[in-house]
Amino acid sequence: MDRSAVIRNAADYYHSGRFLADLDRRVGFHTESVRGKREDLAAYLTEEIVPALAKSGFSSELCRTADNGRNLFLIAERHEDAALPTVLMYGHGDVVAGMEDRWSEGLTPWRVTVRGDRLYGRGTADNKGQHSINLGAFAEVLAARNGRVGFHTDSIRGNTGDLAAYLTDDIVPALAEMGFSSEIVKAAEAGRNLFLIAERHEDAALPTVLMYGHGDVVAGMEERWSEGLAPWRVTQRGDRLYGRGTADNKGQHSINLAAFAEVLAARNGRIGFNMKVLLEMGEEIGSPELTGVCRSQRERLKADVLISSDGPRLSAQRPTLFLGARGIFKFRLTADLRASEHHSGNWGGLLVNPATLLANAIASMVDGNGRILLEGLRPPALPEAVRQALADIVLTPGADDPAIDAEWGEPGLTPAERVYGWNALEVLALAAGDTQHPVNAIPGKAEAVCQLRFVVGTDLQGAAEAIRAHLAAKGFPQIALAVEWVEPATRLDLDNRWVRWAVASIEQTTAKKIALLPNFGGTVPNECFAKDLALPTLWVPHSYPGCNQHAPNEHMLGSVAEEGIRIMAGLFWDLGEQPWNQQ
Ligand SMILES: [Zn+2]
Repeated sequence: MDRSAVIRNAADYYHSGRFLADLDRRVGFHTESVRGKREDLAAYLTEEIVPALAKSGFSSELCRTADNGRNLFLIAERHEDAALPTVLMYGHGDVVAGMEDRWSEGLTPWRVTVRGDRLYGRGTADNKGQHSINLGAFAEVLAARNGRVGFHTDSIRGNTGDLAAYLTDDIVPALAEMGFSSEIVKAAEAGRNLFLIAERHEDAALPTVLMYGHGDVVAGMEERWSEGLAPWRVTQRGDRLYGRGTADNKGQHSINLAAFAEVLAARNGRIGFNMKVLLEMGEEIGSPELTGVCRSQRERLKADVLISSDGPRLSAQRPTLFLGARGIFKFRLTADLRASEHHSGNWGGLLVNPATLLANAIASMVDGNGRILLEGLRPPALPEAVRQALADIVLTPGADDPAIDAEWGEPGLTPAERVYGWNALEVLALAAGDTQHPVNAIPGKAEAVCQLRFVVGTDLQGAAEAIRAHLAAKGFPQIALAVEWVEPATRLDLDNRWVRWAVASIEQTTAKKIALLPNFGGTVPNECFAKDLALPTLWVPHSYPGCNQHAPNEHMLGSVAEEGIRIMAGLFWDLGEQPWNQQ
């Protein structure tokens, strides 16, 4: 993170209202040294300043010069390194008398009142406001130096400096401490993505794990976070750790690296397996060049298994392992019949209406209950192993989620089977004419953007041809098809020995029955690992469905993070411990 980003963050301490909240609390202590009570003077330090300093890593002590001394002192220290310079900061928490009756109408000494550019209150100027500014700035710079969330790694509109700094200033040194050698790789000079490939090699006879993660995030959406929260710093409230990237994906790979460090230390620097790390900085823009890097760096990325963390668990309470992802087949249907509209009075009944045509074409592909009618877009029958794995998976929407529509989708399937074991054909957007300002005219053109989320076994190669043949056969040859995005589906065999190994390890660590999902309902970049690197793929998510990833107020749950660190430590321990290849 560069100097200007740090100063932006520090200004955010003021603009977000956090400075005002801190100052208001501090002004609230009646710390008049002239006639004040000793308890109030002490409380300012013990209840307010000591905890604030502790958050920045200070140890504090209160002292008096004599037992019945009239003054009280706080001496706090934060020590980083004996080789570094040391700063002493002085301030005073006592104030003059409140003079309650003499403040202007509406103002009072023991509360902060904002009027225009003025923040009124006893001690705002002398001296609580002043040392609060200094402590606030210190905390911001500290957060910027230490926190991964502090890097503005927005890959959509972010600057490449911040994206690179996340790797060079934070991840590479953290990995180096654990004995990794790192290299930052671009697929091409003009590539849009940036990759870190790191390796820690112990012994050619040991198994090798590849861990993937992404350091980029979606936009900060600064103005839309709740009061007191901000995207580029971590704020803890109850069990929630707020900040952009806490769930997706900085928090998740940070958990994995922390667990790795703990096990490495416990094993005295010999962990018992080889580890490779691949971090990309462009997942939120569709992982450009990721497949290319997996192919061109195949030897360097060679491993025995992929263990990664992204996406949500089934629920906050239930540890989850998923083995792949549904694929995406996104396509546009266009009925572009005429260059312009034609009056519906004069031409209605004479001209084919493209909107009517398109609506009927869609209805011939998916019925009014969401059941896919076009055979080429349907998956093969649900495999027995998948049915068994999903038998105990219950989907429970959170407080802010919509209720599940019981009758929607393929008949005879449970909700879990519908989202993890089956295909869904969705209309993402649909347009003809202007619905806000309709005119009496037959539109010239109608358009729909559709998306098939599909599982392994669906004939993707033949999908476009199947749609074209279907449209022609059903009498809609005028509708053009354009395929816009294809992401293949992946699913590791549920019977793979790595799956059995991971399930046993996680269940031993947590004493819970885990949710084993054949694949994730959404998408993670897994094809390049499953196909190009031919790896068994184990995904252990540390987020939960209510995490607000991609929205304001993104957060991670502390309870899930704690369990996640234990799960990963258990997996890393077992990798070095167990006869992993004899299960
Ligand atoms: Zn994301």
